[in-house]
Amino acid sequence: KQKIKIAIAGYGNLGRGVELSVSKNPDMSLVGVFSRRDPKSVETIFPDTKVYLVDDILEFKDKIDVLILCGGSKDDLPVQGPEFSANFNIVDSFDTHAKIPEYFDSVDKPSKANNKVALIANGWDPGMFSINRLYGEALLPVGETYTFWGKGLSQGHSDAIRRVQGVKAGVQYTLPSEEAIQKVRSGTRPTLSTKEKHKRECFVVLEDGADAKRVESEIKTMPNYFEPYETTVNFISQKELDENHNKMPHGGFVIRSGSTSQKNNQVIEYSLNLESNPEFTASVLVAYARATFRLSQKEDFGAKTAFDVAPGLLSIKSAHELRAELL
Ligand code: NDP
Repeated sequence: KQKIKIAIAGYGNLGRGVELSVSKNPDMSLVGVFSRRDPKSVETIFPDTKVYLVDDILEFKDKIDVLILCGGSKDDLPVQGPEFSANFNIVDSFDTHAKIPEYFDSVDKPSKANNKVALIANGWDPGMFSINRLYGEALLPVGETYTFWGKGLSQGHSDAIRRVQGVKAGVQYTLPSEEAIQKVRSGTRPTLSTKEKHKRECFVVLEDGADAKRVESEIKTMPNYFEPYETTVNFISQKELDENHNKMPHGGFVIRSGSTSQKNNQVIEYSLNLESNPEFTASVLVAYARATFRLSQKEDFGAKTAFDVAPGLLSIKSAHELRAELL
């Protein structure tokens, strides 16, 4: 049987994750990586992975079944999504939640006009968390949905710490509040403020001679980033930072608490504990690339999100095998 031919557009953390994930799916093969940088400067995980200049991608129009876009949501995807969806079936992880409807429209037209499928805004949030929010609301219409994030490394907040004068290096983790989660799990459906749901924990390496007290206070009072939260600042050595804070963990919980009668409350919980955010996100994108290929074979073209894809389409197993083994 012919393998599904996958290609990667943009090779950063997510691109590397897709390269790994495709190698774990025996029904797929990797055509190569398409980068805006000089291919000779891009070092892939597997030495036999081919790297091409993205400008040459149209030469591969008939050799790629699904192109997985691994560019950044802020500046890359808003340009690349509409462009690539006119020539390829695409999958991406666009995660600017407020702009998803607008982005959806921008890829719907080119993909429909050219008989392509554009599956956008996938990963874990948006993605697997979104599906679980939907299931929760649909199954328990009378109730509340809660999303907690963490423990997770926040790139934006880590950058903010590093801009404080006297800081040599640093990382920030977002932590879900245990007390808040316990309250939600108990079924009481509390109203929780931003401050009550999450805490922020910083690990900072100081420059020689920097004033720790001032740095701590500048971090804790930084508007929007840290001021609204309970923040702790830990000072550590560069060695500790290198040894203990070199991964990109993330995860969190989606909890729906709802009542089906006066006396009965029901709680649904979905949780993720991820050692590598990009590797997990990439694994989701690759499973959805399989679904995207199948949708294109069914000629179900245009923009889609995780909400539009039947779960069976994600699996390497046939519908019959799934009924026999997993139902
Ligand atoms: P990176 O910054 O690692 O990569 C983004 C792009 O930058 C790459 O596609 C690459 O494009 C370019 N790039 C990468 N490394 C270099 C380099 N050394 N020098 C110059 N350019 C480089 O981002 P991530 O892969 O970590 O994340 C991509 C997006 O994934 C995020 O913006 C986020 O929105 C999304 N995401 C979504 C999640 C979800 O749950 N939906 C979860 C996690 C992330 P090129 O090869 O063309 O130069």
